[in-house]
Amino acid sequence: MKTDNLEIQELEIDGYEKVIHAIHSGTGLNCFIAIHDTTLGPAMGGTRIFPYENEKKALEDALLLAKAMTYKSALAETGLGGGKAVIIANPEAVKTKSFLHSYAEVVNHLKGLYIAAEDVGTTIHDMAIISEKTPYMAALPTVGCSGDPSRFTARGVYWGIKAAAKTLWGSDSLIGKRIAIQGLGNVGAKLSRHLFWEGAILYVADLDELQVENICREYSAKRVEKDEILSMECDIFSPCAMGGILNDKSILALNCQVVAGSANNQLQNEHNGHDLMLREILYAPDFVINAGGIINAAIEFDEGGYSARRSMAKTNRIYDTLLSIFETSQAQGKSTVQVALELAEYKLKNKIGKREKPIVFYP
Ligand code: NAD
Repeated sequence: MKTDNLEIQELEIDGYEKVIHAIHSGTGLNCFIAIHDTTLGPAMGGTRIFPYENEKKALEDALLLAKAMTYKSALAETGLGGGKAVIIANPEAVKTKSFLHSYAEVVNHLKGLYIAAEDVGTTIHDMAIISEKTPYMAALPTVGCSGDPSRFTARGVYWGIKAAAKTLWGSDSLIGKRIAIQGLGNVGAKLSRHLFWEGAILYVADLDELQVENICREYSAKRVEKDEILSMECDIFSPCAMGGILNDKSILALNCQVVAGSANNQLQNEHNGHDLMLREILYAPDFVINAGGIINAAIEFDEGGYSARRSMAKTNRIYDTLLSIFETSQAQGKSTVQVALELAEYKLKNKIGKREKPIVFYP
């Protein structure tokens, strides 16, 4: 498709329903939107703005993230599919109104097959600007919308950690458990609060020293160097910063019994899930434990509209989902990642959790 300024090219990618590459000559927008699977409902996923080295890297990221969204939504039964948008740019430099509006044009091109939400490099404020030109959006900070997802993501991670404790130690109480949190942003800070009130002993690291100071003061947490948090001796390591941190080398350095945190795409390679099992470290697959945010956004599209209470009830179910994944993993000698993927595939194949009525978008 080509209009005066916008050129959209469809890419054929095996295993993906639709992938587009869009370039807007007027604003300089260069983006990919990957739709992995819409068996259970339209694809929802974040819009990431990041200065990727090149288009290949951006496309790879979009594909990987879109697929993870399919599995995350299938397991949480949100009635949504998986998709992701990536924009190649420095988020500090490009976000003019016309730039964001040109991205909205690209989203409109997909006619609701992809629903956009906030992600790395975009803010709720950017999303509000994009929504001036497209209705295919979620998690806006406006009346009737679900707003900031991180409070639900943090709550889901908290319940996931409790499920891991129950599996390993027979009780889900976290009193006295030593928990190391990497990253004290939107999710990590809220998670710290949940864990503190439960009686856990917190160790924290972040690039932002002021935030570390705040959390240490508020929750009697202990500051740890950012390069040491992953390998420190603790009961639970909770990665809440960036992805790709669990790799062949770092897994050998872990000194904990559980890894359970919000970061997306924590495993650098698929076999790393198995490596964690061999080291007898209980791993809560990221796409299961961090589903609170997508659960919350999806509730917007349910009959009767958004309800924080319904969202809370569904987010709390992450506890049961993880308990059953951990149990199957132990019974069948498979990694928790493999069990979670098989469960997601089963739900997709049998259309479990499929959205019954199409979503109506109001322009
Ligand atoms: P955020 O940007 O608010 O916070 C990330 C924090 O990590 C920042 O404070 C940053 O300084 C810190 N950080 C970065 N590199 C670090 C390092 N090497 N060591 C220690 N700290 C480091 O992001 P967020 O919204 O809190 O999300 C955290 C993670 O969870 C991300 O991977 C995100 O993709 C994932 N996630 C978030 C949500 C959500 O609802 N926000 C939902 C699902 C998944």
